[in-house]
Amino acid sequence: MRDAPSLHSNPPRLRVWWHPTFDRNRLRVLLLALMRLLLTGGTVVDGTGIPGVRADVLVENGRIASVGGIPENVEAERIDCSNCVVAPGFIDIHSHSDLQAHQDKVEKARQGVTTEVVGNCSFSAFPAAEERSALHEFANSIFCGSGDWGWHTAKEYYADAAKGPGRVNPLSLVGHGTLRISEVGLKQGPLAPAEMDAIEQRLSDCLAEGAVGFSTGLMYAPGSSAPFEELERLCRVVARHGKLYATHMRSYFGGILESIDEQLELARRSGCRLQISHLQIAGRKNWDLQRKVIDKIERAHRQGIDVAFDCYPYVAGSTVLTQILPQSALEGGIAAMLARFADPAARARIASETLENLAWAWSDVYISAVASARNASLVGKSLEEISKERQREPVQTVMDLLAEENGAVNMLCFNQSEENLRQTLAHPLSMIGSDGFYVKGRPHPRLAGTFPKLLGYYTRQEKLFSLEEAIRKITSIPAERLRLNGRGVLAPGNAADIVVFHPQEVAGPADYENPEVPPTGIRYVFRNGNRTDNGGR
Ligand SMILES: [Zn+2]
Repeated sequence: MRDAPSLHSNPPRLRVWWHPTFDRNRLRVLLLALMRLLLTGGTVVDGTGIPGVRADVLVENGRIASVGGIPENVEAERIDCSNCVVAPGFIDIHSHSDLQAHQDKVEKARQGVTTEVVGNCSFSAFPAAEERSALHEFANSIFCGSGDWGWHTAKEYYADAAKGPGRVNPLSLVGHGTLRISEVGLKQGPLAPAEMDAIEQRLSDCLAEGAVGFSTGLMYAPGSSAPFEELERLCRVVARHGKLYATHMRSYFGGILESIDEQLELARRSGCRLQISHLQIAGRKNWDLQRKVIDKIERAHRQGIDVAFDCYPYVAGSTVLTQILPQSALEGGIAAMLARFADPAARARIASETLENLAWAWSDVYISAVASARNASLVGKSLEEISKERQREPVQTVMDLLAEENGAVNMLCFNQSEENLRQTLAHPLSMIGSDGFYVKGRPHPRLAGTFPKLLGYYTRQEKLFSLEEAIRKITSIPAERLRLNGRGVLAPGNAADIVVFHPQEVAGPADYENPEVPPTGIRYVFRNGNRTDNGGR
């Protein structure tokens, strides 16, 4: 028998209502989560890949209470999902919304995303040193960052995210570049033993505090200068914590086979789970390498290496313009790079190295963002066009632009073939992520359109895979990869992260010309039972 409630048990709890530190918004969220929701008449595609079934879904206290078998008279707010698919919230395995996850941005939520993995490609928002200018210089163009952002620890980063609007839950990897910068700034090359010990410990601390893994970006300075031994030591830390290692490899161009070998060797030696980020073969002359790349991955997988990869459903990629240059040009940071541009001998050397390694045609590279107003008209133009207008060699235009914009230029580049893309999208070891990031200019359409485009174009129209398989690639597969319990499958007991969409209408019309057009056909998105795709329930 339970004790009768004592007279003193209630007042302390009530006091919280007018306690000055009590967050009223939090209370609102709690009360909403207590409500019951009944999603009626939809087809449940639960994320595991099994065929969809007609079933109602009951949500209670932010969790899925039942799928089917619900008494007719149950008291709940009813949401009509007739003709719609009811699926688990989508998990964006590869995102760069590290800062935007703390802000009230709707681009991901309205695509059906409820969880996103940030901290990719060596860029994360923690661990930050006291002095953050080097970190800002490193990551602002990928994060669309301004102001004095940065968190010392994973714990602080998550705590701040929890105070935000919570449309999407960020899970962060620890970026290798950020990690190095926290200890030695923008310095390139091998680290001293004490520096190495320090970053190893810091990585371990971040993983213990809830970072979901570690990421490298071996085409980006300063991580690009790290020797294999450094990566091996850090991957051993990842393996010890049972977390994920995601890599933007040293090359996606002609050197991709060696790059894959290096990453597989890291996984083999350290025992970590390996995630190859945004797998693609960039540059027309390299497209034939895809079969060999896939063969290497499949062979390693058969040999017991825990390897998988992600990709986004577009043939163009997007990154910072400095990626065109040899990364040694960035040694010491932007100011040092600009000083090299001003020195004729150094400039000539950078130009010739750039041309030697260039895999794109200049007509395939477009400017997507600049820092200044005076160059705003260049956004959307190719380097070939701009160079003609300016009557400059394209490689000189690249350096001119970087100098005019103090290094802050983003590009969009047509990388891969449609045929190769379809093969990676459909591959059993792949999952689909956005690789989306915000820019002060014209973003890549994947930021606004990845998931609906996958479901509309590649699934319904092109029939690349079944709807069940497409959903599995953006729900249970990434959840399993992250060892994320209680999400990624629509089943009783799991968090009520749910997307309701119309399978005939879902589409991601955002394109390179109009990249911010919102998706169609997504009806409702819930995270922990709270509506997130609009202003709130
Ligand atoms: Zn990347």
